[in-house]
Amino acid sequence: MRISVDIAVVGAGAAGIAAAVSAARTGQTTLLLDQRPAAGGTGGFSGLTTLCGLFDDTGRWLNEGFAREFAEMLVESPPLQMGKVWVLPYRPETFRQTAAALINSLSNLQTQWNTALTSVTVEHGRLVRLNDIEVGAVIDCSGSAEIARLAGLDCLATDETTQASAVIFPLCGVRRELNSPAAVAQVLLPLARAGFPPLNFQPNPEPGSITVKFTGGAEQVTELVAFLQRSVEGFERCQAPLARVTAAQRKGRMIVGEYLLTGAEVLAGRKFSDAVARGAWPIEQWNADGVARFRYLPPGTHYEIPARSLRAARVNNLFMAGKTMSADVDAIASARVMGCCLATGAAAGVLAADYLQSSRSK
Ligand SMILES: Cc1cc2nc3c(=O)[nH]c(=O)nc-3n(C[C@H](O)[C@H](O)[C@H](O)COP(=O)(O)OP(=O)(O)OC[C@H]3O[C@@H](n4cnc5c(N)ncnc54)[C@H](O)[C@@H]3O)c2cc1C
Repeated sequence: MRISVDIAVVGAGAAGIAAAVSAARTGQTTLLLDQRPAAGGTGGFSGLTTLCGLFDDTGRWLNEGFAREFAEMLVESPPLQMGKVWVLPYRPETFRQTAAALINSLSNLQTQWNTALTSVTVEHGRLVRLNDIEVGAVIDCSGSAEIARLAGLDCLATDETTQASAVIFPLCGVRRELNSPAAVAQVLLPLARAGFPPLNFQPNPEPGSITVKFTGGAEQVTELVAFLQRSVEGFERCQAPLARVTAAQRKGRMIVGEYLLTGAEVLAGRKFSDAVARGAWPIEQWNADGVARFRYLPPGTHYEIPARSLRAARVNNLFMAGKTMSADVDAIASARVMGCCLATGAAAGVLAADYLQSSRSK
């Protein structure tokens, strides 16, 4: 059966959840579609346990509105300072449950799970159909610009040379403190000497657990865990749920919008008269050998994201958010963190609703 909605959102990760809830809260009939079985995206399904990009370098909220609302529903332990940045530890299942609670609270927000976007129809510079769904406006939150790709629109892309994928998994049964760079280095050194690809540890809210981001392949995780058990004090009884381990993709595709945010503007803390969101996360790049490079904004600085970076250049009713927003490869290496995705998603939902209201009143 062919259905018709005011606003369709493709991709139910941090950006898509925010976009769909914000659009539906304006009263528009909204549809959220994802090929996965539920909302969550990378934040809910990859094993991540730290929400980045919510705070400035003093620990103050960067964005009010939906980003803060979502984080406050999710929070189980206070934000943590890690070097120059602040992160919010969370559980992936709570991320999915929070998303479901927000989505299910809105009777004008429908969902389609286990549904891939496979076709789009553009007529007279407007998207009129996604799959079999008639649409008034559309928000691409697919992380890989699926709508733009199918419509043949201009995109930029990041790849494994600066946004290398990684396997993320929890390790439980760890009996060793990892609360300083020196303590972490004592664990990483024997791994590097044994020839394992680089990894880093992230906080995990489960007691006795840490989250591992490993730049090797999923097939090397069994060997890695066995090495830790054998050779590193405090890891003798560590275990990982190996059945669920797959690599998560940092790389993605960005739609060229009315404005292209650049890495130079991120680092300079550029402000805009049409700003709709803020970011302060460093430009974070991971090369193919798993080595991270962080370029920080000056202390006390944040940058703004203009509404024009969330509007597609050549299709009137197409908006985008999260990893798909209009940004160059350096700017997205900062704006791709989930706090920023929540903020740009929420803004895109409101922009799409405003567009529909003003086009109806013409
Ligand atoms: C290894 C790694 C470590 C990271 N570490 C952190 C971290 O510690 N903290 C942090 O804040 N961020 C981290 N990030 C970044 C962050 O997780 C992502 O950039 C962010 O979650 C992207 O959100 P999004 O909503 O734009 O896209 P996603 O969360 O990727 O959601 C996109 C959704 O679109 C759906 N989709 C795609 N194509 C289609 C289609 N054709 N049809 C239907 N659905 C489709 C997908 O199934 C997916 O659910 C990390 C990322 C990776 C890969």
